[in-house]
Amino acid sequence: MRSTIRRRTYQAIYRLLDRVSPIDTDCGQLCGAACCMGDPEGEETVGIYLLPGEEKLHSKHDEWLDWSEDYAEDYEFPDSWTGKVCFINCKTPPHCPREKRPIQCRTFPLTPHIDEDGELSLIYNDLDLPYACPLIYEAVPLNDDFVRATLTVWKHLIRDPLIYDLVKMDSEERGE
Ligand code: SF4
Ligand code: SF4
Repeated sequence: MRSTIRRRTYQAIYRLLDRVSPIDTDCGQLCGAACCMGDPEGEETVGIYLLPGEEKLHSKHDEWLDWSEDYAEDYEFPDSWTGKVCFINCKTPPHCPREKRPIQCRTFPLTPHIDEDGELSLIYNDLDLPYACPLIYEAVPLNDDFVRATLTVWKHLIRDPLIYDLVKMDSEERGE
């Protein structure tokens, strides 16, 4: 898939999000790093798909991850998504090179939403997850700088038509 987002832009996004955190302490201590472990027993590792172009920051030879590619058409991605989508599985969750965490990890527990007027906002992730995130179910106030940086990042990301289509599709499904 052709991404309009350059490697340099993804690097800048990673750097911006490296400087912020949802809360001041390590929220993984609250839940045993549930979003990394993927299931309460910790028996399954979590799979993460990379956004179009985000694979420019990763390598199939990175030792900390398993890498696979699937066809967008086989999954619930927007119609504009055709061809290969990269999925990664962390080999030793919750441990990973922090500076390499994908966008999905960096912006959780928030997710972008585009309303009927085309306005972008952030909401708590409302996917049906196999674990419970205390930041969500206890509605823990998130750091302002984390929320601001995350919104800035998504504003940039949705300039890419493929990412816009993904966020729009998820937002419309949410509306239903
Ligand atoms: S984001 Fe939520 S689920 Fe993930 S480590 Fe923090 S508190 Fe746990
Ligand atoms: S990349 Fe790191 S933060 Fe993200 S799920 Fe894997 S271990 Fe957790």
